[in-house]
Amino acid sequence: MVKQVAIIGGGIIGATAAFYLSYLQGNENVQVTLFDDDHGQATKAASGIISPWLSKRRNKRWYALAKRGAELYSDLVKAAQLSDKAYQQTGTIVTRKNHEDLLSLYHDAQIKQQQTPAMGHVELLDADAVQKKMPLLTNPPEGIFVSGGARIDGADFVKELLEHAEANNVQVKHERVSVLPNGDVRSSEGTQTFDHVIVATGAWMHETLAPLGLNVKVRPQKGQLIDLTVAMPSKWRNMPVMMPESMSDIIPFNGGKLVIGATHENDEGFDLTPKPAARNQLFENAKAFISTLSESQITDMRVGTRAYTGDFAPFFGALPDLSSFLVGGGLGSSGLTTGPIIGYFLAQAVLGNHSDDWSRYTKPVSSYIG
Ligand SMILES: Cc1cc2nc3c(=O)[nH]c(=O)nc-3n(C[C@H](O)[C@H](O)[C@H](O)COP(=O)(O)OP(=O)(O)OC[C@H]3O[C@@H](n4cnc5c(N)ncnc54)[C@H](O)[C@@H]3O)c2cc1C
Repeated sequence: MVKQVAIIGGGIIGATAAFYLSYLQGNENVQVTLFDDDHGQATKAASGIISPWLSKRRNKRWYALAKRGAELYSDLVKAAQLSDKAYQQTGTIVTRKNHEDLLSLYHDAQIKQQQTPAMGHVELLDADAVQKKMPLLTNPPEGIFVSGGARIDGADFVKELLEHAEANNVQVKHERVSVLPNGDVRSSEGTQTFDHVIVATGAWMHETLAPLGLNVKVRPQKGQLIDLTVAMPSKWRNMPVMMPESMSDIIPFNGGKLVIGATHENDEGFDLTPKPAARNQLFENAKAFISTLSESQITDMRVGTRAYTGDFAPFFGALPDLSSFLVGGGLGSSGLTTGPIIGYFLAQAVLGNHSDDWSRYTKPVSSYIG
């Protein structure tokens, strides 16, 4: 019998789950409908970096999940035939303000690299060598280059995954739906009972699950970034992305788009208004490394709402008292790295192939939803 599956939320988790449900073996037994109202979506607002290996975070589950997430990308990109616009492995440059800290990080990176093939190779670069790799920088810092790092454009990534899923029998409906107290889903077409429901509604998950009498402990955080257009000769193609310590990331795309981001506002709730102060702060951060930039090159400002848990860790799994409901969320500021692997795990669970030990990657769902 064909199982009916609903995915609520079409950000990076929902879109990846939809893709895998249209791709993995066993998918002939499921009919998938994805609902997304595309309001404030963090994924579409984000351009980001996939390079978790040198993070300062000490949460072991988070690191195991982020490492696995970064590893998944090469398979996912091939399977979904994603374009260079959506994802490209350009390498990343990580900096430290203090030279001794950089050397210590380089030492750690060399050890990690030996057990982590996805990191590629690791190089310690002086400022001139950084400038060679990123010729648009006028004031390059010293840094560590990690060749396995990548950049992603969230909007293109989701668009391409969903196009692939739709071509393989997933229905995508652009609307807000609600969950009813008995677990049915109400959409503009009426009320439907699904065999499985994947809830991936990001910062809105509390609202989604409240009708089930559940309290989801996630809070919204506003994130803003700016896009600039700069002259980039074709020989500058495939420049790495830079993660300067305590400053905004610098993310060049082929063709002249330069993204600077992102901000983290904890006191603005679900507000999606671009703020001049954030724009100025991002621009000044970029100017510290590229003095030739002018404000007239800013072409866009994007705003999205991230979801944070109390311990800043993502979570995923089945609801304790309603196992037909699978949830994934709380991705915070590293969701582009951890989102796809969560989408993959949830899709595998729907298909009955849940073989991984999820406790290596997340605390139980009951730690976040009660
Ligand atoms: C400016 C910015 C920069 C970022 N940079 C990075 C970065 O460099 N690296 C990184 O790893 N991460 C980054 N992030 C974080 C990352 O984008 C998020 O953690 C991740 O995309 C969240 O994905 P999600 O699928 O959980 O939620 P979302 O992408 O927010 O998707 C949830 C979707 O559910 C929909 N929805 C909610 N309720 C309903 C309903 N009832 N019915 C239908 N649809 C509903 C929403 O409209 C939304 O479209 C950034 C985020 C922002 C905002």
